[in-house]
Amino acid sequence: MTEKLSGEWTVIVRYGEVAVKGEATRSRMEGLLVKALKEALTAEGVIYGGVERLRGRIIIRGFDSEETAKRASWASARVFGVKSASPAFEVEFRGLEDLVVVASSFFAPRVKGRSFMVRARRSGVEPFTSKDVERELGRALLESGAPRVDLKSPDYVAFVEVRGRRAYLYDTIVEGPGGLPVGSEEPALVLFSGGFDSTVAAWRMMRRGVPVHLVFYDLGFPEVLEVAVEAAKYLADNWAYGHRPKLYIVNFRGAALVVNGLVAPSYRTLVLRRLMLLHAEDLALKEGYEALVTGESVGQVASQTVRNLRLIGGGLRLPVIRPLAGHDKDEIVAEARRIGVYEIVARQREVCGVDTPPTPRASEKAFNSELEKVKDVFIPDPIIVDLRSSGLEEIKGKLRLKM
Ligand code: ATP
Ligand code: MG
Repeated sequence: MTEKLSGEWTVIVRYGEVAVKGEATRSRMEGLLVKALKEALTAEGVIYGGVERLRGRIIIRGFDSEETAKRASWASARVFGVKSASPAFEVEFRGLEDLVVVASSFFAPRVKGRSFMVRARRSGVEPFTSKDVERELGRALLESGAPRVDLKSPDYVAFVEVRGRRAYLYDTIVEGPGGLPVGSEEPALVLFSGGFDSTVAAWRMMRRGVPVHLVFYDLGFPEVLEVAVEAAKYLADNWAYGHRPKLYIVNFRGAALVVNGLVAPSYRTLVLRRLMLLHAEDLALKEGYEALVTGESVGQVASQTVRNLRLIGGGLRLPVIRPLAGHDKDEIVAEARRIGVYEIVARQREVCGVDTPPTPRASEKAFNSELEKVKDVFIPDPIIVDLRSSGLEEIKGKLRLKM
């Protein structure tokens, strides 16, 4: 049926917050969105003809089939800034009557034997209303043999979006992550352990448009490093379209040894965390990143009480952003599932490099004097991995060589 209709398979991409920005910002963000969409399509291996910007929408065109347009929609729905995407058949029409003829021949085979409803919207310049389209197309589909209209819980929803002389016919809406296109913000450095929290925190920052880079502090457990690398690679390959994240791997074994040797047991975790933040701050400033990000959540463990967060993270030259500060663990785990990284990070082992848990309300004075003992500890330069351009095995090979 569809083959007889003249038209083209496209993808409609809807974006949320970008649409409400001022003119200049919106135009810049749309440009970033288009760049990220193109990368997502290329990564997915789908061939497309071109990308067109409409007001509040991006149309990707030139797909050879509905199947390809569907795959393109799934790929688009992994681009930050995208609210939703639909594989849509684009047709041209002359007036309401013509539109109804074209749309009913598209939808008739799809509504066969199913209850349905029509949902139409238009941009506002047409000499008919959305209600007209819904009523007339509904009638035509009933005439074509569809059993009945059901406005409450239809088996099938026929969507029609009219833009001037063109209409988009579709029945599928794939939800995207929302947020802002990556690159809308200045870059930041995530303290990344490859556990649930810092992985979800990194994803959340990218969703807000922040191009993130990751730093992992290696305490000497190869299997922990391996999971961290896999989680980082997963984020880079599946979510970082429009951006090339780097992973910095810092050998922190010496630092942990010195802390374990010199610092009072109940202060070791806090001091080690502080050393990580101080190191990350220097690294970020050197590389031009403008904030630090951690996966800390208030009260989750003794090192993440308000008091201890103050001691660990106070007085730095860069802001420390904690996107999960107010989240419960089960919410974080559920988000890891939605991101698709659950299976990887669930394998991560919790190691802090220290065997005594910190006191939940550490004293500032004691903390400072314990920190003083080790603050000049030598830390070697990081190994730097470009996550997008190297394969997982290649990265693992490189790291084993240097370990
Ligand atoms: P995660 O799930 O990210 O491991 P967590 O709740 O287990 O977090 P901690 O292990 O106490 O918390 O670490 C708190 C935060 O400190 C982490 O979210 C991460 O940002 C940072 N962090 C901890 N260990 C490392 C590490 N080895 N390398 C880099 N960052 C780390
Ligand atoms: Mg952890």
